Amino acid sequence: MSTPIDPRPTAGTTAPRPGATGIDLSGLSKTYGSGRRAVTAFQDTDLATERGSFLSLLGPSGCGKSTILRILAGLETPTAGTAMVDGLGPEQLRASARLGIAFQDSALLPWRSVRANIRLALEVAGKLENEPYIDDLIDLVGLRGFERAKPGQLSGGMRQRVSIARALVVRPEVLLLDEPFGALDDMTRQRLNLELLRIWTEKPATTLMVTHGISEAVFLSDQVAVMSARPGRIVEVFDVDLPRPRTPEMMRTPEFHALCDHASEVLFGAPAAA
Ligand code: ADP
Repeated sequence: MSTPIDPRPTAGTTAPRPGATGIDLSGLSKTYGSGRRAVTAFQDTDLATERGSFLSLLGPSGCGKSTILRILAGLETPTAGTAMVDGLGPEQLRASARLGIAFQDSALLPWRSVRANIRLALEVAGKLENEPYIDDLIDLVGLRGFERAKPGQLSGGMRQRVSIARALVVRPEVLLLDEPFGALDDMTRQRLNLELLRIWTEKPATTLMVTHGISEAVFLSDQVAVMSARPGRIVEVFDVDLPRPRTPEMMRTPEFHALCDHASEVLFGAPAAA
């Protein structure tokens, strides 16, 4: 039996709930299907972060990380509980044009150029006044010279850069990232994480990043939430008290390694291999 969804967000308004913080999950559960075919992805999930902070959701494959993100993005409905960001429910968030999303699969339109794919986010959000920002982002993500290229002419890493630029062009106040660099080789992934960090530092958005990369979660985040295997539950949320701005050198410090070991212990019950 499922609990009815809390109708807390008021329909038709995009004004944040007074006193609202960042990500705010309360009693959130999701079961796919019903009867003998029912699959409970995760259950009874509570989570709260501050507005403008970066949270990573870390956990084994299939524990419901993407589903949580998709609920926040309004792409799935929860079976029970509520999900809000910056005081807005998923529907309100989508309507507010404050949201930037990037997925593991860059999901670009193959017939559109790099520039036109990034512009699409502005068209959808009705924010064409941000058009001059497209060129800044093309520079920031290192795609100068490829503005007219089609996705099929780009490498996987370049396509993910376009995807990140498309998420950022609306100047989002909320950023939802689902393993945005998950399919890439380690070096490209690290480079793109640095770019993401640089851009995020300029304008911190309330961010949820789904990942199974321990070191990238620690490096980028203010907080890391670790989930158990399906049906997922949040086992622990810990603060990453490394100073900002973060630099790659920090990844070689004992503090960084201690945080990664801690995440690994929570995940697997043992420290990560060096
Ligand atoms: P994660 O992101 O942690 O890998 P997901 O949120 O993608 O996990 O999926 C959690 C569980 O829910 C998995 O067992 C998956 O098979 C199941 N699931 C996800 N989407 C659907 C769907 N549309 N229909 C049925 N089951 C689904």
